[in-house]
Amino acid sequence: MDSNTDIRYLKGVGSARAAEFNKLGIDTVDALLHFYPRAYEDWSKVVKIADAPVDEYCCIKATVSHVPTKHLIKGGRTLYKVSVTDGRGMLNLTFFNNKYIPQMLKENEDYLFYGKVQYSRIGVKEMLSPLFMKAEENDKIRPIYHATSKLTSRTTEKCVNEALKHIDEIIVDPLPKEMLEKYNLCPLKEAIASVHFPSDNASLERARRRLIFDELFCLQMGLIRLRDKNRETENRHVLTRDCSEEFIKGLPFELTNAQKRSISEAVSDMSGEKAMNRLLQGDVGSGKTAVAAALIYTAAKNGMQSALMAPTEVLAEQHLRTFEKLFKNTSVRIALLTGSTKAKQKREIKQAISDGEADLVIGTHAIIQQDVEFKNLGLVVTDEQHRFGVNQRTVLRDKGESPHVLVMSATPIPRTLALIIYGDLDVSVLDEMPLNRKKTETYYVTGEYHDRIYNFIKKHLDSGLQAFIVCPLVSEGESDLTPAKEYYERLSSTVFLNYRVGLLHGQMKGSQKDEIMQSFAKNEIQLLISTVVIEVGIDVPNAALIVIENAERFGLSQLHQLRGRVGRGSVKSTCILVSDSSGEQAKQRFDIMCKTTDGFKIADEDLKMRGPGDFFGSKQHGLPELKIASLLTDNELLLLSRTAAGELLADDPEMKKENHKLIRQQVNKLFSQPSI
Ligand code: ADP
Ligand code: MG
Repeated sequence: MDSNTDIRYLKGVGSARAAEFNKLGIDTVDALLHFYPRAYEDWSKVVKIADAPVDEYCCIKATVSHVPTKHLIKGGRTLYKVSVTDGRGMLNLTFFNNKYIPQMLKENEDYLFYGKVQYSRIGVKEMLSPLFMKAEENDKIRPIYHATSKLTSRTTEKCVNEALKHIDEIIVDPLPKEMLEKYNLCPLKEAIASVHFPSDNASLERARRRLIFDELFCLQMGLIRLRDKNRETENRHVLTRDCSEEFIKGLPFELTNAQKRSISEAVSDMSGEKAMNRLLQGDVGSGKTAVAAALIYTAAKNGMQSALMAPTEVLAEQHLRTFEKLFKNTSVRIALLTGSTKAKQKREIKQAISDGEADLVIGTHAIIQQDVEFKNLGLVVTDEQHRFGVNQRTVLRDKGESPHVLVMSATPIPRTLALIIYGDLDVSVLDEMPLNRKKTETYYVTGEYHDRIYNFIKKHLDSGLQAFIVCPLVSEGESDLTPAKEYYERLSSTVFLNYRVGLLHGQMKGSQKDEIMQSFAKNEIQLLISTVVIEVGIDVPNAALIVIENAERFGLSQLHQLRGRVGRGSVKSTCILVSDSSGEQAKQRFDIMCKTTDGFKIADEDLKMRGPGDFFGSKQHGLPELKIASLLTDNELLLLSRTAAGELLADDPEMKKENHKLIRQQVNKLFSQPSI
């Protein structure tokens, strides 16, 4: 047996069970050993019935005081009731549909019961379907694994136990001994054995420390290498003329100082020895597009092509309109490529790009990355960067074109994390809003106010302004079409019968969406009813009101993004959050929204309020999925692993040394996940 042995050859597995393990992403015995428990049953800490916490898992040692009694309930099912005591307290246990209970629980014998204590309707303490074992079977901490309908946690536990018998053949510690000593880490085999079957909480902590370290270490190694690779890219597109000034002069507004600074930082990069690799971070509405435009213009004047990549078609099409305006009186030629560009047209456009007839290519990510040959690609701008994986930043660079890279993001993140996620980039921050902006007023109301909200919308429309309604959400995975359509049909045939109302949703074809957005931009549509497809980047300054239905379904950062669709011009804007939810969390979010419009503050609050894996899901930052480490809470190990990674790479940049071979393999494995 070795680390590549198929899981099905493990004793007790076989092909049917192997298929279930495959569903959990486990294909080898090695992968099973790295399938860490999601939680533990702590049978080692026994509490008295009197002290048992309510509604939390705990373990109680008690004697069965009466033989189990059988009760028949609806549907021919049976349940058993058992009462137990620990000398001081009494506890009632209920088991459903388990006919073996009378054989397993004997009167006057001692057992350990593991479950949640609750109070029954008459105020008696009870546990529903607790796990149990004989008291003399020894107290320990038992693993709980993610299960499927056909694979229980207990089965996985048995298989892991079996696999651990072969641990010496399977697991080789990739970290050199000196490192373990230096960073106070236990050997990998010990960590793996203990993470599954810890002898006590202290050994579990030691095991977790080692495994979390390993994961973060690999992550940092990969990111630092990425950074070094990017930093080393020679500048093959050196600017010879800085033309940003003449472009800025032609703009209908005065740029903020932050915008001017960002432009000159980028221009200086592009004129330097290494290719630019820069993040432009700025809250919604801070004017990132104008910065990108100045650079694209400059690149074009220097004979280079640029690509602008957007996460959605709607956004790509909006960018096309924006840039057509911005470049109206210039010689910059623009092409658009999206998934819905027709085949024949696509061929022509691609031809124009490879002939160098287009200076700027705007499009969705996949399209530009996959099938476009450029004549002289000098600059790649990625909008809403946080939607893409870290690896994607370099895809075009790897095509051999080595363009300058500017990524733009409105997601503010804490500093330590920024260092890690964007550690490979130089950063420009737009910390200043255009002067003409007025703060968007935000209110929170219940559904009872709908009539008043509709009147408020009418007032806006009557005065020539425009408005959004963000539709009620449907549950995840369901199509957003039906409720959006129904809502649209109802409103446009009743309250807003005399107004021009439009509908935008995710199931529309790109060209349809584009038509709707164009009509909205031209004020042919006054009221746009939309699903969350408008979340990213839509820019119509004449829209001064946004109503968000079912606001409780959105996270803070998402609400902030949505609100950013208004307040983009000189008119005073309003955001109305509609919700009938009585949830405390939701109310807290609304409260914060009403109090502040500062994106960084909101992101901070968002982090505090949400659990990890939400904002920090790999969808948000594009990093590889982590199994055991948390970017949010494992701060100490995050810094430690960064130091360790830095030291190792300083000594052996390519990880070529014999004793670093396994580390290299692991880093490559972590960064080869399909999600990044
Ligand atoms: P974001 O940073 O969210 O992408 P945009 O680039 O879409 O923001 O800019 C928001 C709006 O502000 C646009 O309508 C843009 O024309 C306008 N704008 C950008 N910079 C300025 C400025 N310095 N003064 C006034 N308006 C500006
Ligand atoms: Mg934008």
